[in-house]
Amino acid sequence: MPNASNPQRLLSYATSIAKCPTETVAYGSCVSSQAERIKQGDCSAEFKKLIDCVTKNLKKKLKRANRLLTFFKYNYKFVPPYRVLVDGTFCQAALTEKLNLAEQIPKYLTEETHLMTTKCVLDELEKIGPLLYGALVIAKQFEVAECPHKTPIAAADCLSHLARRAASGKTKYLIATQHDELTEKLRTIVGTPIMYIKFKTILLDNISEATKSGASKDEEEIKRLKQLKKEIMGPSDPLQKKKKKKKGGVNPLACKKKIMKASVETVRTGERTATGKRKRTKKKAPVESD
Ligand SMILES: [Zn+2]
Repeated sequence: MPNASNPQRLLSYATSIAKCPTETVAYGSCVSSQAERIKQGDCSAEFKKLIDCVTKNLKKKLKRANRLLTFFKYNYKFVPPYRVLVDGTFCQAALTEKLNLAEQIPKYLTEETHLMTTKCVLDELEKIGPLLYGALVIAKQFEVAECPHKTPIAAADCLSHLARRAASGKTKYLIATQHDELTEKLRTIVGTPIMYIKFKTILLDNISEATKSGASKDEEEIKRLKQLKKEIMGPSDPLQKKKKKKKGGVNPLACKKKIMKASVETVRTGERTATGKRKRTKKKAPVESD
C-alpha cells in the first residue's frame, strides 16, 4: 500500500490507478463484498491485477518519454542535463494538479534536469498579480535563463524567441507550457520538444511535423553528401573498397572422414509369457552321440 504520509506520492498513485478503471472496480467490489469480515490476504488476486496494471502504465509512460528524447538526442543534439524552460501557465497547472515540478520532471525525463524560466515570464506573472501569485512563487524557485529582452516582452513571445535561437544554437531547451497559441507556434519551430500537463501527469508532446521533416532533411543531406563523395573520389576510394575474401586452402577438418558407427543389432529369441515378457532360453549343449 502507498505511504499515506507522503501526499505527493499518494497522488501519483491515484493518477495511475485512475488509468486502470476495470481493475479498480474489481478490487473495490471484492473489498466491499467482504465488508467487515475482510482479513489479510483477501482479494489478493484482484489487488495483484490492479498493481500490475498500474506498473504497466508507468512503464509505458517512461518508455514513450525515452523514445521521444532519443529522437531529439540523435537528430537535434539534445544532451543531459536537459534545460526545461517553464512559463506561468505550466506553473499554474502544476499548482492546480499539486505536482512538484522539481521532483516530477527529472523523474519523467530520467536524467539530470535544470528547471528554468525567464525574466519576461516572471515580469508577466508579477503584472497579473494575485490571480497567479502561486504560479509566480513556483517560477521564482527556478534558475533564470538569459533572454535578450531588456524591456520585458510577453512570456509567450520570449519563449518562442529562445526556442528559435535554440534550434540553431548549442543551448537546447525543452519548453514547458499549457499556452495553446505558444504550443502551436513551437510546433512550427524545428527541433523543439514541448512539455505539458494533462490528467495530473507531465507529458512530452508528440514530435511535430516540422521537427520530423527537419530530421529527415538531415538524413537526405547525409545521403546526398555520400553520393557526392562517391562521385568525386571514384571507385578508387579505399573506403569504398570491399574486403576481398582471403583465398585459403580447403579446411582440413571438412575433409575428415566420417567414422561410421557400427550398428549393433540385438536379436532376441524366446517365446513371450502370458504377461508379455520374453522367456529366457538356455542354450543346450549339443549331445554327443556315442
Ligand atoms: Zn525575454
